[in-house]
Amino acid sequence: MSQTEQTTMGAEVRISRILVPTDFSPGAEPALRWAATLRQVFGAELILLHVLNLNMAALAGLPSDFLRVPAAGELLQRIRDESVEEMSRLAAKYPGARTLIREGSPRPVILEVAKEVGADLIVMGTHGWTGLTQLLFGSVAEHVVRHSPVPVLTVRQDEAQ
Ligand code: ATP
Ligand code: MN
Repeated sequence: MSQTEQTTMGAEVRISRILVPTDFSPGAEPALRWAATLRQVFGAELILLHVLNLNMAALAGLPSDFLRVPAAGELLQRIRDESVEEMSRLAAKYPGARTLIREGSPRPVILEVAKEVGADLIVMGTHGWTGLTQLLFGSVAEHVVRHSPVPVLTVRQDEAQ
């Protein structure tokens, strides 16, 4: 490529960090395989992120003051421990990946973490635990696609092979 052509096309895109948000559901797995391949191609770092939504208790219909009863502390701890275990199981399949577990609402937290770690690309499933009840995207995927300042690669579960 000539100097002029390079200038016209602008600077090359560098992909140094790939962020994969995962809810540990089967819907998130194909995205992980894509990310793992892209990471090798680009020599990028792979960052796995799980956002622990502790408001799930409220969503599951438990009373709003549930998190204040003593037994709730134990339950929360168990939920936290389980996500640490899930994350280590996943990380074992992707050696060298950085892992992050954050607490909060998945939609804003994924975008915040993308900014914080300097992700150049987000790779995620179109659906998660809720599955294919929604036509195109689950709500987390849709929000990230709409608001992410960096490109988002979405991978459908049935198109991943
Ligand atoms: P919804 O949650 O809207 O009912 P869904 O569960 O089918 O629908 P999403 O939650 O949008 O779909 O999932 C799309 C992708 O977003 C998943 O492949 C998943 O990895 C990622 N994701 C969803 N929730 C989280 C989370 N809590 N932490 C990290 N990634 C998540
Ligand atoms: Mn979901």
